[in-house]
Amino acid sequence: MRAVDIIIKKRDKGELTSEEIDFFIRGFTNGDIPDYQVSAFAMAVMLNGMTPSETAKLTLAMARSGQMLDLTGVVDIAVDKHSSGGVGDKTSLAVLPMVAACGLPVGKMSGRGLGFSGGTLDKLESIPGYRCNLTTEEFKKQLKEKGIVLTGQSLDLAPADGKMYALRDVTGTVPSTPLIASSIMCKKIAAGAQAILLDVKAGLGAFMETLEEARVLAHLMVDIGSRAGRKTVALLSDMNQPLGCAVGNALEVVEAIETLHNGGPMDFREHCLHVTAHMLLLGKRAKDLEEGRAMAEKSLADGSAYEKFRVLVTAQGGDISFVDDPAKLPKAKLVEVVKAPRSGSISQVHARIVGEASVTLGAGRAKKDDPIDHAVGFIIYHKVGDELDAGEPLFEIHANEAEKLALAREAVLNAHTFSDEPVSPLPLFYE
Ligand code: URA
Repeated sequence: MRAVDIIIKKRDKGELTSEEIDFFIRGFTNGDIPDYQVSAFAMAVMLNGMTPSETAKLTLAMARSGQMLDLTGVVDIAVDKHSSGGVGDKTSLAVLPMVAACGLPVGKMSGRGLGFSGGTLDKLESIPGYRCNLTTEEFKKQLKEKGIVLTGQSLDLAPADGKMYALRDVTGTVPSTPLIASSIMCKKIAAGAQAILLDVKAGLGAFMETLEEARVLAHLMVDIGSRAGRKTVALLSDMNQPLGCAVGNALEVVEAIETLHNGGPMDFREHCLHVTAHMLLLGKRAKDLEEGRAMAEKSLADGSAYEKFRVLVTAQGGDISFVDDPAKLPKAKLVEVVKAPRSGSISQVHARIVGEASVTLGAGRAKKDDPIDHAVGFIIYHKVGDELDAGEPLFEIHANEAEKLALAREAVLNAHTFSDEPVSPLPLFYE
């Protein structure tokens, strides 16, 4: 077999076989197939697509390019979740402890933020000492003993995906549905997930801006999961406005802790209850969604979910006094409350603009290895549909530099639009 023939076949809209895909991914992983041929391949896939069967084969080939974690004997059913990312999405911080408190052990490998979209690891690292680099052995031991793990991706997990993503990033081939779906799913499969809950976001602050695009991606990922023998469910959720109120690393940890104390913003709480109920159903701890939701609510009300979060932080070396007293978490020097410039109903809180403004403040990265400022960000007080009077508090900025604060103020004011007519609230979930 020759790599060039596989590229030509895809260029000419052919359907690749398992043998061809395995050969190509194996060659790429071990360095026999050079980057320029993989870039050409990615562009051919970008332009001509892949069938669901080809996409599943590509996913499995990438999953097998490194270590395949086997969690049998560690947990009776390995349930994982994935969010396609967004602004203010601190769901894993609350959902994992809720799920674990309901008796379903859960271990997850998360990512860092890139661009306007935040990342779970950056948020957790607001807690001094918290380790995101557990070894595979530590991951398994903690999952077995404590029933909860939230760490970074181990280096040898789906290495072909890491290399492929780096090429896609610089060859204009990121927004290809089969490449995105296989990239997400290969990591979940390699991490040993037997059941997977996908939270696919649609909207202005999501990878997929339209519901139609998000739906296509969701269906494809469910199809890949099923072909790979993993029970997979996708939820389509809104990402036009930020999720919850807090945007920024330490601010989001505080909001997650408030939620675990049975408080927090209603939309975020609802989102977490729904995701938890689905995970409990997938993990066979609940017989239906109703029971799963009741269990999730109970874990918040009786303090067991919060207790699981303490177990997690302690197990991973974090200083628990920062969880018990979140006021100790990193704080910005400058905090300003910005008032509504006019009366009316809020018709938009543009999630991407808010996310980009948080990067301006220093909460996110422009490049992969940029340092981040855990203290900065926003508290967005209102949701689409809220009615308010001119001069009422609209949002809060936490900044460490006056110049950046001024830029962020301008941007986030513009992210809010008002209407004289009543506006319906946005749904939390579409499907
Ligand atoms: N997330 C991933 O892991 N891969 C993609 O290609 C896009 C989003």
